[in-house]
Amino acid sequence: MKNKPTLSHILTHLGEERDQYFNAISPPIIQSSNFAYKTLDEFRNAFSDELNNHIYTRGNNPTVKILRQKLAALEHAEDCLVFGSGIAALAAAIVGNVKAGDHVICVEAPYGWIQKLLTKYLHRFDVGHTFVDGRDINNIKAAKKDNTTLLILESPNSITFECQDLKACADFAKSNNIITVIDNSYASPYFQNPIDFGIDIVAHSGTKYINGHSDVVVGVVCASKAMIQKIFESELMNIGAILSPNDASLVIRGLRTLPLRIQQSHDSAMKIVAYLEQHPMVEKVYYPFSKSFPQYDLVTKQMRGAGGLFSMKLKVDKIELAEKFFHTLERFLLAVSWGGHESLVIPFCGFYNILGQEDSSLPFNLFRFYIGLEDPEWLIEDLERGFSVINK
Ligand SMILES: *Cc1c(COP(=O)(O)O)cnc(C)c1O
Repeated sequence: MKNKPTLSHILTHLGEERDQYFNAISPPIIQSSNFAYKTLDEFRNAFSDELNNHIYTRGNNPTVKILRQKLAALEHAEDCLVFGSGIAALAAAIVGNVKAGDHVICVEAPYGWIQKLLTKYLHRFDVGHTFVDGRDINNIKAAKKDNTTLLILESPNSITFECQDLKACADFAKSNNIITVIDNSYASPYFQNPIDFGIDIVAHSGTKYINGHSDVVVGVVCASKAMIQKIFESELMNIGAILSPNDASLVIRGLRTLPLRIQQSHDSAMKIVAYLEQHPMVEKVYYPFSKSFPQYDLVTKQMRGAGGLFSMKLKVDKIELAEKFFHTLERFLLAVSWGGHESLVIPFCGFYNILGQEDSSLPFNLFRFYIGLEDPEWLIEDLERGFSVINK
């Protein structure tokens, strides 16, 4: 893209036509479902391009449009659509690019609802799939069939952080007429831009870093103009999982501080990971920006940072001890999701002994942490208290 806009310009000015709304600094929430026309000519003209004219808020709303422009620029994409959730965005990108009889290759252990989308939902429409260990491009190549049309990547994933070589995947896909989609939620556009490596479609759960305040569920799809137009005309307009103008306004506000927030999470996570890696009660830490991470060389080639998400295996052999460690923590909230201001923990022992369900396939001593915006030393004190209790 020529004259790539700078990050500062994107976050502070891009898409904000202030002279259209009293030079207000913050864009108004255009809380209107429909838009009126003075003449039939203008009305007819608008219908020739519903994505870029204001007819109805399911298609295009001015507040939502500001957010779309900023996100497209952040991902080095020509255009962007936003959805009412990350899974709506990912599902639109995937469903919009397959038809009955097609085959999809997907990395193993993707986000849980992507797994269900392939195994339960698209299965009903005669779309086949193969899950592969995407750390080795040869596994992806070997899974290709004559009817393979789509490759789904998630790099890194959000529990154990396996990565794919994005350039190798894009090159292979392009030479075989396969469309590539990546879930880029872990890195956010601040730390990784898959389009620069040749990936076709970049999707996000904007619920995580992009909104960043744990108060909106939102999804993002970034791609070429033609791809966005295609997804707009079918999945967005037909299924209609749109983001409201009100939520778009909140996400614009959250986005303003994306670099500050994710960099702070990254810096704190680096400190906490270094503390954990030398701790005798820790068996293993999984963090893409740790030198101990098996794919560290690849990670630093395609990512500029890793943010606040990592996992740790506690050195205990009884589930009771993992539970005790968790119950000692006071400064991490037990909750799903991540990317907000608050630090979180998911102890995988919580997925054991659930009535009527099989135990997790992940070990009970695994903990996934998200480091928010708190002082890392204050969080380390809490972890230290947890270790000292089980070490007695
Ligand atoms: C949360 C998440 C999603 C789903 O996003 P929602 O906004 O919750 O619908 C998809 N992929 C990853 C990696 C996620 O963490």
